[in-house]
Amino acid sequence: MIKYCDLKEINKRYEPALTEAVTRAAQSGWYIRGKECERFEQAFADYCGCKYCVGTGNGLDALTIILRAYCEIDAMKPGDEVIVPANTYIATILAIMEAGLKPVLCEPFTDSCNINTKLIEGLITENTRAIMPVHLYGLVADMDTINAIAKKHSLKVIEDSAQAHGAIYNGKRTGNLGDAAAFSFYPGKNLGALGDGGAITTNDEQLAKAAKAIANYGSHKKYINVCRGVNSRLDEIQAATLLVKLQSLESDNKRRMEIAHKYNTGITNPHVSLPATGNNGEHVYHIYPVFCNNRDSLQQWMTENGIETLIHYPVPPHKQTALKEFNKLHLPITESIHDQELSLPCHPAMSDNEVEKVICTVNSFTV
Ligand SMILES: *Cc1c(COP(=O)(O)O)cnc(C)c1O
Repeated sequence: MIKYCDLKEINKRYEPALTEAVTRAAQSGWYIRGKECERFEQAFADYCGCKYCVGTGNGLDALTIILRAYCEIDAMKPGDEVIVPANTYIATILAIMEAGLKPVLCEPFTDSCNINTKLIEGLITENTRAIMPVHLYGLVADMDTINAIAKKHSLKVIEDSAQAHGAIYNGKRTGNLGDAAAFSFYPGKNLGALGDGGAITTNDEQLAKAAKAIANYGSHKKYINVCRGVNSRLDEIQAATLLVKLQSLESDNKRRMEIAHKYNTGITNPHVSLPATGNNGEHVYHIYPVFCNNRDSLQQWMTENGIETLIHYPVPPHKQTALKEFNKLHLPITESIHDQELSLPCHPAMSDNEVEKVICTVNSFTV
């Protein structure tokens, strides 16, 4: 059986350093907002090429806290609008709503599946304050165009980088391609913790300070609360494991790209469409999606042949019961992506034999 994402095998490769890091944190006697978190924030800021990094409890909170921090420093106010791709994971949209802002859903491009930059200006109103591109599947969105539109209309650009740790666009890394960025360190992400974790990166000192306070009960100084915050911190054990895994993020991403390249050249089944590739380093293949009109039979075929696949995602956010107010929207591109997408196993612990088996099985699928 080839697993979709074999976390046990993935994390085994970091031993004994991973266990040593956990032990170090466990025995330190300090578990929240200590040296490990500080070291990781510095290391991750340096890696992204950013001035500031603020650890958070998870990726959803990182997104929400950025928006709440913008409200705190008067760059936005409740009720303002944020333009977001309709085919994202629901977290991006929930974060906007949680911060008291209004998500405005934008269709994606059919090829890259990232926000269709040709449609953004048509969605801008006097209440629009930000564009929130998502680097979906690990492929960087069209940031030059997004930043140009944002500049023209005085909007903030907030990257949802939860799927694109380490991707490079025009020589810069994700996390440093807009005004602020949110990362998730959910275990299955390209940089994954041994539990939940997240981070905000930015070059904006005022925003970083406000975000850091909001993540810690609205407090810079113990028991002095300057705003209404939340409890969302990156704990010492997670920070210590992330410090270990960050050292291998480059080589892990390289292996993902290598596997993706094998899929790109090896999969020749005419019933299966391959994903957009991007320039060198622009796609870190958190997910390797293929698209097929008979997606469910393809998935069944893969399962019968011992290959686990996933669907990202079976139901688009605007069709979820949780987002009733959007249920009447008709977004045909988003809906067709959700109907056709199938994610193949693509992780750094996969062997070449396993990759070959996936290719052969996809190629032998008949409708
Ligand atoms: C994983 C993910 C998130 C949320 O991250 P959590 O750490 O699970 O809260 C947000 N946006 C996207 C696109 C994601 O893939």
